Amino acid sequence: MQISQLARQNIQALTPYQSARRLGGQGDIWLNANEYPISPNFELNNRTFNRYPEPQPQAVIERYATYAGVSPYNVLVSRGGDESIELIIRAFCELNDSILYCPPTYGMYAVSAETCGIASKTVPLTADFQLDLEQIAQNLEGVKVVFVCSPNNPTGTLIKRLDLIQLLQMTQNKAIVVVDEAYIEFCPEATMVNELKNYPHLAIIRTLSKAFALAGLRCGFTLANKELINVLQKVIAPYPLPVPVADIAAQALLPQGIFAMRQQVQMIVSECENLQKNLKNLPLVEQVFESHGNYLLVKFNDGQKVFQTLWEQGIILRNQHTALGLENCIRITIGTAEENKKLFEAIETMSP
Ligand SMILES: *Cc1c(COP(=O)(O)O)cnc(C)c1O
Repeated sequence: MQISQLARQNIQALTPYQSARRLGGQGDIWLNANEYPISPNFELNNRTFNRYPEPQPQAVIERYATYAGVSPYNVLVSRGGDESIELIIRAFCELNDSILYCPPTYGMYAVSAETCGIASKTVPLTADFQLDLEQIAQNLEGVKVVFVCSPNNPTGTLIKRLDLIQLLQMTQNKAIVVVDEAYIEFCPEATMVNELKNYPHLAIIRTLSKAFALAGLRCGFTLANKELINVLQKVIAPYPLPVPVADIAAQALLPQGIFAMRQQVQMIVSECENLQKNLKNLPLVEQVFESHGNYLLVKFNDGQKVFQTLWEQGIILRNQHTALGLENCIRITIGTAEENKKLFEAIETMSP
């Protein structure tokens, strides 16, 4: 008997999440994981390492609540936004329930569900990457959690607020609606936070990994009403946040940290517009999709060739070729001005 055959059946069948780091590559320009291109600098203040950390570090919770415009009891902090996805599935799905999500979208909803042995239902986004509410309504039977990513990764699309409201209305008393706002800092006016008061089954996922430039920290948040947060508190690990993580997260959420984040966002948004304009003019580019995140989804006439050619030059992008409806599409994270210039020149050089 092989050890791998002792694993649960669904784990034997599981294809793990293909994270950018897992996919590898050798390069000096990393535009494949939607990270911020430059590291912020922090010193550790708390050097008490012999004691367990606070389960929910107060300074982090309070400062994030202030930043997000909610009360501390509306906030749960976890090991990245990814942990929040799994907590919600674990806390709300019975073994014969399912989750529902709308591809092409973030891959972790499916992987987390599969890991927990929970089935996934999919209702593809429409041609303009919006919710197909009619199809969702027809597929809600047995669905306990609906995941919507807005701005959506990898398309960059903002899901229409009125559609999200309709989704919240049709799921009332039936299912949790998770709005994944990992990229919300790039379009803060689109947040659904102000709907928390109206919908007890709304959960919003946030992270320090993108606009805050702290992907290495592994720190994310769930925003929801008290009752929902209390359910998640029951299943989260006893000490999810290491002392150094809580220490740095608390600093990043001070006024000067938020100010720095907003400057980072400004730089990325302006670089993004620039790159979008430039790429549009290249003959081998078919379409540059409108993006509200720190990345661009670009359709090429031969996406595989562009991806491979740049990969060989050490410019690592995220291939979306196998994502639903995204043939020949590549997701490009916005880097520094210099990185974006090198990227553009590499693609321009390929043009006939
Ligand atoms: C990056 C990302 C997350 C969370 O990332 P963490 O690093 O685990 O906080 C969640 N959802 C989407 C869509 C993302 O792109």
